[in-house]
Amino acid sequence: MHLQVLILPGDGIGTEVTCEAVRVLKHVAKVYGHELTLTEGLLGGVAIHKKGTPLPDETVKLALEADATLLGAVGLPEFDNVAPEKRPERGLLGIRKALGVYANLRPVRAYSALLNSSPLKNHLVEGTDMIIVRELTGGIYYGTPRGISGEGAETRAVNTMTYTRPEIERVARMAFTLARARRRKLASVDKSNVLENSQLWRKVVTEVAAEFPDVELEHILVDNCAMQLILNPRRFDIVLTENMFGDILSDEGAVLAGSIGMLPSASIGARKPNGAWVGLYEPVHGSAPDIAGQNKANPLGAIGSVAAMLEYSFGLKEEAAAVNNAIEKVLESGRVTADLKPAGPPASTTDVGQAVCSFIGGK
Ligand code: NAD
Repeated sequence: MHLQVLILPGDGIGTEVTCEAVRVLKHVAKVYGHELTLTEGLLGGVAIHKKGTPLPDETVKLALEADATLLGAVGLPEFDNVAPEKRPERGLLGIRKALGVYANLRPVRAYSALLNSSPLKNHLVEGTDMIIVRELTGGIYYGTPRGISGEGAETRAVNTMTYTRPEIERVARMAFTLARARRRKLASVDKSNVLENSQLWRKVVTEVAAEFPDVELEHILVDNCAMQLILNPRRFDIVLTENMFGDILSDEGAVLAGSIGMLPSASIGARKPNGAWVGLYEPVHGSAPDIAGQNKANPLGAIGSVAAMLEYSFGLKEEAAAVNNAIEKVLESGRVTADLKPAGPPASTTDVGQAVCSFIGGK
């Protein structure tokens, strides 16, 4: 297979973890006999420095031409106090919009070697394996009217939570499709006891469920879901939710995995004629200025994002499983970065990337 991938290393540890993710991608391509064409683009603070904007037109063009995009992280402290439209993070929203990716997938797995890293009791977390599917382009973050008006006691702030039927249908279909390839259980999260928006969400998800009779659907209120994620995370397989609820619940999910450096994500959208998803893949963490440039960052979230890319954008399930198995073996070997609190001296970012490749092995 010919894989054309755009690499956007970004800022801070983004460049370091991406370097290891690319090492793993190249290794997989070599071992499994795929042709790999990599292009590199600018996004975030580095793009502001070189091109005067966080998302140069050239980067959008490259992303639209590529089969998939792999992103590191963006953000530099020197931009912390500038206007939002001039910040590196604006580039992220821009590239998601340009690619039309409307669903954010966050796999949450509790690796047995990391159970002690989770602040929760081992017996609660053990065996957790879910994907949180968050709608990414609608809901209260984008709805209008919005804004703050008036003054003093008359000051009023408004945000609008809005969804259309097609917006719910497409993300629901994607989530049900994913459930089919897993344990065939889907929990749809809403607040339908209070919000009309959630009533529409529940109605449309129920209708879409009729197309997937082999998937078990459960509706769960967001407040109960927040509690169940901590009390009994194993009960979840696919968790489907709207934008703001997903934003909050997926960070709660991150706690289950032990370190933010472990978490991959995939933002996917339309299907290509060959059935593959248009996708943007990135670790969940930011550019971590506190450890940038020190070869200390955990690259496993970025490497897990490569596994997600292989599976969703290229349909290469065996290759994706090989990467995920190698991640597990690295964790079991104890050769991990400082954030995972190894018993001995911590491994470097580069060590971990090399270890993943050696556990994938040759063929
Ligand atoms: P962060 O995720 O960068 O860091 C939070 C903490 O986690 C830090 O202590 C950091 O050292 C640690 N950490 C993060 N990733 C790690 C890894 N792979 N290995 C080991 N430790 C890791 O979040 P922040 O400090 O709030 O933000 C820093 C910058 O990143 C800001 O400019 C922010 O806007 C940006 N940011 C970008 C993204 C993105 O690009 N998707 C996401 C979040 C934050």
